[in-house]
Amino acid sequence: MQTETPAWRKCSSCKKPIGFNARYYVCSVSTCNGPRTGYVFCSVGCWEVHLPGARHKDAAAIEMKSPATAAPAEGTRRIIASASPASASSPSTSAAAPREVLIVASRLKDYITARSEMNTSANVMDVLSDFVRLACDRAIENARADGRKTVLDRDFQFLRHS
Ligand SMILES: [Zn+2]
Ligand SMILES: [Zn+2]
Repeated sequence: MQTETPAWRKCSSCKKPIGFNARYYVCSVSTCNGPRTGYVFCSVGCWEVHLPGARHKDAAAIEMKSPATAAPAEGTRRIIASASPASASSPSTSAAAPREVLIVASRLKDYITARSEMNTSANVMDVLSDFVRLACDRAIENARADGRKTVLDRDFQFLRHS
């Protein structure tokens, strides 16, 4: 037992603590490295462990470095309005919110087919669900800044930028 070791995060596979200023690995798939899931792995081997359950076709382990100190990340959350998996650089605190698919797959597929006659990969639902979660987080902050306890449609106005 080494419970006294100051750890930054725990490996998502083997639960071994990952210290500060330490090397760790994340999955290149955005649904794995997103703020809500935030898988971190102490080794490439531990990253490989999550693959069978994760069901992704193309994935890579990305080497990262944990922060040097336990600086609070409050107020630095930013919306990045793209589903680019390259935005894996912010290991934010793991909030306990359920990570479920929020998209009605059949309707989304119908929409894309109607617009483009294209098919839709199943992973799109995960990416879009993350996007919805990000948008909701931002709307929650807007509602909170307004002193409201209800998220309103106008809290999503930042989405109507074009
Ligand atoms: Zn591990
Ligand atoms: Zn993954």
